[in-house]
Amino acid sequence: MKNLWNREDAGKLGEDPLGMRVYSSRLIGQEEDLVLHGGGNTSVKTKEANLFDEREDILHVKGSGWDLATIEKEGFSPVRLSVLKRMVELEQLSDVDMVRHQRSAMTDPTAPNPSVEAILHAIIPFTFVDHTHADAVVTISNTRNGEDRIKEIYGNRVLIVPYVMPGFVLAREVYKLTRQLDWNSIEAIILLNHGVFTFADEARSSYNSMIAIVSEAEEYLSRCESRDPDRGPEGEIDTLGVAKFRHDVSDLTGRPILAQSDNSSLSLSFSEQPELQSIADRGPLTPDHIIRTKRAPIVLTENLTEDLQDYSDAYRAYFGSFTDGTQTMLDPAPRWAVWPGRGTLCLGSSIKDVGMVRDIAQHTMKAIFRAEQLGGWHTLGKRDLFEMEYWTLEQEKLKKPGTPNPMLGRIALVTGAVSGIGKACVERLVDEGAVVAALDLDPEITTCYDRPEILNLECDVTDSGQLRSSVERTVAHFGGIDMLVSNAGIFPQSFSITGMDDGTWRKSMDINLDAHRQLLKLCVPYLEVGIDAAVVMMGSKNVAAPGPGASAYSVAKAGLSQLSRIAALELGEKGIRVNVLHPNAVYDTAIWTADILKERAENYGLTVTEYKENNVLRTEVTSKDVAELAVLMLGPGFSKTTGAQIPIDGGNERVI
Ligand code: ZN
Repeated sequence: MKNLWNREDAGKLGEDPLGMRVYSSRLIGQEEDLVLHGGGNTSVKTKEANLFDEREDILHVKGSGWDLATIEKEGFSPVRLSVLKRMVELEQLSDVDMVRHQRSAMTDPTAPNPSVEAILHAIIPFTFVDHTHADAVVTISNTRNGEDRIKEIYGNRVLIVPYVMPGFVLAREVYKLTRQLDWNSIEAIILLNHGVFTFADEARSSYNSMIAIVSEAEEYLSRCESRDPDRGPEGEIDTLGVAKFRHDVSDLTGRPILAQSDNSSLSLSFSEQPELQSIADRGPLTPDHIIRTKRAPIVLTENLTEDLQDYSDAYRAYFGSFTDGTQTMLDPAPRWAVWPGRGTLCLGSSIKDVGMVRDIAQHTMKAIFRAEQLGGWHTLGKRDLFEMEYWTLEQEKLKKPGTPNPMLGRIALVTGAVSGIGKACVERLVDEGAVVAALDLDPEITTCYDRPEILNLECDVTDSGQLRSSVERTVAHFGGIDMLVSNAGIFPQSFSITGMDDGTWRKSMDINLDAHRQLLKLCVPYLEVGIDAAVVMMGSKNVAAPGPGASAYSVAKAGLSQLSRIAALELGEKGIRVNVLHPNAVYDTAIWTADILKERAENYGLTVTEYKENNVLRTEVTSKDVAELAVLMLGPGFSKTTGAQIPIDGGNERVI
C-alpha cells in the first residue's frame, strides 16, 4: 500500500494537532482498501483550557456520520478523556447510556455524537490513534485458519483480539487484555474479522504504522495468490430480466428500488465461481457492511421470482431465530444479487445507496477470491452478524432526516435533454428524487450533467439501433424505466404545401413522429414492469390550432397526438398512462435567440414582452413551467388520467 504522506502538506500545518488529525484522517479515508463509506475512525488527544482556565485532557474522536475522506475539524467530537477512561472500568454499560454519557462529557454540545469506538480510543495511551477495516488484514482473518495466519505474519508485534461486538464490549475487552501489557512492545492491535488499530504520539508515525501493517498483509496475500480475478470479458445483461427483478424487489420492500448491473470482469468471474451458492452465503467482509448489504447477496437462478421468495423466507427465518423480541424486522429484501454467468446487481433506494453497495460488493468479491485461495472464505457466525445488523447504533446511521423525495427510486428517460423543455424536465425530475437517462443528439449531452442521478446518453432518436442501445443502457444502469418524456423534436423551416420539398417533410415525420413511436415501442416492455408507469408526449398548440406554412410540423405533431391516444387505449390495461402536453410560445429554448425574438415581435408590431405574453392570461410560459406540468403528469396527481391532451400556453383563443 502506498504511503501518501506529503512532508510539505503536513509541514504547513505546524503545531496544530487537530489540523494534523484532519490531514492524516483524510489520507486514510482516500484509500478504499483501508476504509469504505463511513468505516474506520481516528482520534487525537489534546490538553485544553476550559471556561475556568483549568487544563483538561480532551479526546477529539471522529463523529458519527462523518467520512474520513472528507472530514473537517468540526467532524471530531471533543470528549473529556477522564470520563471515557472511567467508563471502561464499569462492568456493564448499555448503548443508550454510553451514547448519553459520552454526549454529556463533550465540551462542545453542538458537536456530532462521538464514534462508537470512543472509549477504546481513550484507553490507548498515545496521542494519535488510527482505526481502519483494511481489506487485506480482514481478508486474511476471514479464512479458516485466519488467526494462525495473522500470527504467522506479525508474530508478537501485534495484539490479536478475537471478535467481539464493537463499542463498549470491545473497549472493555481490549482494556482487560492490555492491563499488564507494555504498550511500547506492540505496533498495532489486530481485531479479528474487524480491522486494525495503530497509535503513536506523532500523526505521521501512527499513519506509517498503519500503512506498514497493511502492506505486510498485502504482500502475504500476493505471495499466496495464484489467480487474478480481474480478467475475462464483460458479461451480457438481460435487461428485461433485470427490470422484472427490480419490480419484484420493489414490491418486497414497499418502495421503488434501483438496480444497477455490474458486468465487469470481477463481477463476472465471481458469478461463475463453482461453489457460488455456498461462498456467497458465508457473510460480509466486515460486520459493519451488513447494514448496507445485508448478511449475504441473493444468488439468482432461472426463476428470479422464486429466488426472491426463497431469499426473503430465509431472511425471516434468520430474524426469527435470533431476535429476542425487542427488534422490529427490517425489510427482507436483498441489497445485491449475483447472477451466474452475468455478473452482479446492486440495489438501493437512491443512486448514492446503490454506489455504496457497489463499492462494498466489489471489495467483498476481491476479498473472497483471495480468501478462497487461502483455505476458504470464513466469516463470523449468523448470531454475531445479527447483533451487528440490529445494533441500534448501526441502524442510526441509515436514518435520513426529513421526508424522502416523492419520486425517490423512480426512473425516467427524457429525450431532447440538452436544453429547453427537455433540460427543464430532467432537472425537475431529479429535484423530485428520480434518476434520469438524459438523451440528446448534441454531443454536448455527454458533459451536460455531472451528477450520479443522471445518465448522459448521446443518441440520435431517428436511429433505431442507437435508440435501442440507449434504452438498454438505461435499464442496465438504473434497473428499469418508469417514466418517459418523449420530447425531442425540431421545428422545420416554413413552406407552403406546394412549395415544400420532400426532404423537409420526411425529416419532420422522422423526428417529430416516427422516433416517438419507435421509442415508445422499445420502452413498453420495461414500462409494463415499471412502477406507476407513465408517458408524457410533447405535442404542440399547432395540433389544435395549426398555422399556414407549418404542415410538416403540425401534421407530425397531430400524428403524435393520435398515436398517444391509441397508446393510452392499448396500454391502459398494463397500467401505463399516456398523456400529451401541448406547449405554445416557450421562448427560453435554444432556437429562440434574442435577435429572432425581437424580429418576430416587430413583425406583429409588439414589444418582446408583449409578444411573449400574447395569450389569454397575459403570461409568459417558460420551459420550467412546462417541466413542472410534465412531472406532475408523471406523478400520483395524474394517476387516474390517461389519453388526455393538456395545453400549456397561457390560454389560446383558437384552442379554447
Ligand atoms: Zn471498526
